[in-house]
Amino acid sequence: MVSYALGDCGGCYACCTRAGSPPFRTDAERDAIPQALRDELEAYYASVAGGQSREAQGLPCLWLDEVTGTCSHYADRPPICSEFVVGDADCVGFITLGVGVPSPPWSEDPR
Ligand code: SF4
Ligand code: SF4
Repeated sequence: MVSYALGDCGGCYACCTRAGSPPFRTDAERDAIPQALRDELEAYYASVAGGQSREAQGLPCLWLDEVTGTCSHYADRPPICSEFVVGDADCVGFITLGVGVPSPPWSEDPR
């Protein structure tokens, strides 16, 4: 049985490996980040127009630092990234899918 201590991802970044790009839900959310980051995202969106997104290719979020396993623009991450409830069904689902992702130290490994 898996038990979860809520409140800390503890080094896990499983959901970031599934996002492809920062999951902003609305233009207003995206408009709230610094211009340089908006420009970077617009360049990415333009690069995949008519082609395959990073998500479709199974690539992690554009903003994931794969060396440290952290968000490279943490202060400007989309609201949904901070609203994710650690240990809930969606979280466990991402961890279960997250082959190669470090096991969160706050739980038994559900994989
Ligand atoms: S899958 Fe869960 S524990 Fe892992 S980074 Fe996402 S919210 Fe945190
Ligand atoms: S926390 Fe950062 S790296 Fe993870 S999905 Fe959100 S924007 Fe991407």
